[in-house]
Amino acid sequence: MGDSFDVAVVGGGISGVGVALEAAKRGKNVVLVERGTLLSQTSSNSLRIIHGGLRYLQQFHFPRVVQSLRSQIELLNLYPEHIKRLPCLMPLQSRGIKQKPFMAAAGAFYNLLYRAAGGGIRNADILSQDQVREYSPHAAHLFAQGAFLWHDAHVVHLSKFFSTLREELLERGVTLLENHTVTEVSQVSGGFALSGTSILTASNVVNVAGPWFHSGIQAKHMSAQRRPYKWAKGYNLLMKKPFPSSYALGLQGKSGRLFFLSPRSDGFAVGTWYAPFEGPADEVFVSEEEQSTALGEICELFPDLALSLSDIIDVEVGVLPMKGYDRVGDPELYGAERYAVFPGYVEVLSTKFTPFLYQARKVLTLLER
Ligand SMILES: Cc1cc2nc3c(=O)[nH]c(=O)nc-3n(C[C@H](O)[C@H](O)[C@H](O)COP(=O)(O)OP(=O)(O)OC[C@H]3O[C@@H](n4cnc5c(N)ncnc54)[C@H](O)[C@@H]3O)c2cc1C
Repeated sequence: MGDSFDVAVVGGGISGVGVALEAAKRGKNVVLVERGTLLSQTSSNSLRIIHGGLRYLQQFHFPRVVQSLRSQIELLNLYPEHIKRLPCLMPLQSRGIKQKPFMAAAGAFYNLLYRAAGGGIRNADILSQDQVREYSPHAAHLFAQGAFLWHDAHVVHLSKFFSTLREELLERGVTLLENHTVTEVSQVSGGFALSGTSILTASNVVNVAGPWFHSGIQAKHMSAQRRPYKWAKGYNLLMKKPFPSSYALGLQGKSGRLFFLSPRSDGFAVGTWYAPFEGPADEVFVSEEEQSTALGEICELFPDLALSLSDIIDVEVGVLPMKGYDRVGDPELYGAERYAVFPGYVEVLSTKFTPFLYQARKVLTLLER
């Protein structure tokens, strides 16, 4: 038998990094096992938005709005060189819930929650079309009724942020095993044995292997309690074109689908499209036809940009757990992460990058309990 640890974390995505950091902060002897390179899978394909939970407001899920805002504020304070505030605009409409009076009321309430979460006085506001023209001259045609302005945050340079997290893990004494695949977790006296590239033991195991979490690595005796999940692939297009706005844009396409456009150093990113996905997560890809359809939806909104397939410089794709279908027939994802808890063993299936520190604290509390 090899080395022994207090906590073994299986999966070095953002969820695993968060758990390993939090456990080490609490004085635990931690090993983080990653089958490839740290932070190279779903977590490196995120749109990079650190959400403030505005969409939960629409679902009247107020505690979750506050929790998202707290996660956002915490990350802005902890990593100010990597995570910055991102002003965002959404068009107001002449009918429905996006009319000016409703959105003004929603904004006022969001400001209250923002303050309750420890933010400043003001996060959201209403802008006229002329004001939008000042910040987003090439998008002003989409804002005939004015705009709802709110502030999210984003990771400016993902690779630099990830380097900082790696350094932090090492400084806190986490044993980092990259290129080590865990093939089985079995219960042994006093804890668990993890087999794979090498064998190690741990009193506690946290399975945060993302879309691979069910691939034979659960502790053996727990397999009967496993619920099958459905999966969706999510993808973003990276465009090498000047961003048509100095603010990020949350837009609705003609099909009713929502898009988010945000600036990147060499152009802009637009996403996220979802499609049901049944294959192995390692084989996920986005076909040229899917790219072309997605691009067509953006061209409808910005005909003047004359975007073509050759403007796509990269496609970011990852696999996420899916709950069902939304009103336009797209996969609907779980709104919040899913936990499964057994003595000494926790599985987390994350649905967002944003709450990784909150999620990590919750996992540690579950294990300590
Ligand atoms: C296109 C897209 C856009 C998104 N945009 C946003 C956004 O803007 N904001 C936001 O908050 N969230 C966003 N998300 C969601 C977010 O990216 C994910 O929820 C999050 O990255 C999941 O992290 P994770 O650590 O749980 O999983 P992963 O990053 O997938 O990490 C799991 C790790 O486990 C490793 N692993 C698997 N099996 C084993 C094994 N047997 N042994 C050892 N290691 C193993 C894998 O190699 C992998 O590195 C987006 C997702 C997608 C796909």
